[in-house]
Amino acid sequence: MPSSAARPTNPTLWTLTAGPAPELSRDPPSRCDVVVIGGGFTGLTAALHLARAGRSVTVIEAGRLGAGASGMNAGFVVPNFAKVDPATVRRKLARDKADALLSLVGAGADQVFATIAEENISCDAAQTGWLQPAYGDDMAMILRQRAKDWAELGRPVEFLNAGAIRAETGMDIYSGGLLDHSGGTIHPLNYLYGLVRAATQRGGVIRENSTVGRVVRDGGGWRVGFADHEIETNAVILATNAFTDGIASRMGRTGVPLRVYQVATKPIDAETVARIAPHRRPVGDTRSNLFTYRLDRNNRLISGGMAINPIGAFERVGRAVVDRLVFELRLPRHPDIEIVWTGTAIMTPDFLPRLYRFGEGFFGGIGCNGRGIAMTAQLGRTLARLALGEPMESLPIPLQSSRPLPFHGFTPFVASLALAHARFEDWRTGRR
Ligand SMILES: Cc1cc2nc3c(=O)[nH]c(=O)nc-3n(C[C@H](O)[C@H](O)[C@H](O)COP(=O)(O)OP(=O)(O)OC[C@H]3O[C@@H](n4cnc5c(N)ncnc54)[C@H](O)[C@@H]3O)c2cc1C
Repeated sequence: MPSSAARPTNPTLWTLTAGPAPELSRDPPSRCDVVVIGGGFTGLTAALHLARAGRSVTVIEAGRLGAGASGMNAGFVVPNFAKVDPATVRRKLARDKADALLSLVGAGADQVFATIAEENISCDAAQTGWLQPAYGDDMAMILRQRAKDWAELGRPVEFLNAGAIRAETGMDIYSGGLLDHSGGTIHPLNYLYGLVRAATQRGGVIRENSTVGRVVRDGGGWRVGFADHEIETNAVILATNAFTDGIASRMGRTGVPLRVYQVATKPIDAETVARIAPHRRPVGDTRSNLFTYRLDRNNRLISGGMAINPIGAFERVGRAVVDRLVFELRLPRHPDIEIVWTGTAIMTPDFLPRLYRFGEGFFGGIGCNGRGIAMTAQLGRTLARLALGEPMESLPIPLQSSRPLPFHGFTPFVASLALAHARFEDWRTGRR
């Protein structure tokens, strides 16, 4: 069975513009307190918190640094759930559990920007706020309530009327929208490199290009094996996200993989920047076929899309995304494409993050649902707390069964059908 998150080889805007990759000179030990499998944001955040707590930690990464979604994403820092309101979380979970999860998720962006500041990470971090414009009056009502709910939880979230959204985006198609002042943008690969440096400066060891093939119970601990090396450890954290090969299948098959394409244009002119993003806020609207955009430090426009048919999608989606940017933002010129890249995100069936327990001292965490930068800052920290021995019940993310989704191999087709349906709905209801 092929991995649903095949290790990408295509370059990204981030590989073109990143600073030098960190030096990883130390060999992995034969024993340490905690082994983390997967060197994306989740695994590295967990490693950083463990190293800060004085534990010896080793991260084993199958590819190069940034090989997973953490190196492929668009750098929008968004502290909420993709499709779920605070009210929905309260319906699904007991009130105290719901409020603990909401507080954790709502503070995700603050946590990202705090870590960047504490660790002095140079990654174009801009906590400018995140905008979610509402398409249609019904959606505006939903976002008005959503903004109120988050504000009642103490989050800096407000509802903006249609005029204010027009002033923020230059677009006159929206009926209002939500502004979360704690959101923003980063250069994700430089953030990832910064997490690596922060963890290694505290004694953490990170090993690239090594796929963990086995995790075996041994007395009161575990033996983690890759190539011809083995590490004895007290605790293991599985942070392999959407990947499904080998040990990663325990977690990767519990969610729906989504192949997402990202496009960066060549830099656009300053006058247009001032019209479409006067405060440089990243934007993601509410249409079923989501419209998103942000700027990088050089005023390249970054947006994304998905493909119903994966054949030839790279070029096709690239062109379609730029055409949409031109149409929606009324760009004066058709910008050239700088680069197109793709990666695999994962959605959990209920759109909530999950913790898994695979055995005594062996945990996993998943469920970033396209909001992974903020969410992994909290998920990684929560996994570190578990490995430090905190009881699962006291933690804000619910423990779930790690049973694979039935017919997981067919989930990419389901995602394609869902996308086709979303586009049809946008067309049927007059949403462009
Ligand atoms: C194209 C795209 C755009 C996105 N845009 C955004 C965005 O703008 N904002 C946002 O918040 N979120 C976004 N996301 C989601 C976000 O990037 C992810 O949720 C987040 O990066 C997940 O981090 P992670 O560490 O859990 O997983 P990953 O970064 O996927 O890391 C998992 C790692 O595990 C490694 N691995 C797998 N199997 C093994 C093994 N057996 N042994 C060792 N290592 C293994 C992989 O090589 C990989 O590096 C986007 C995702 C994609 C794909």
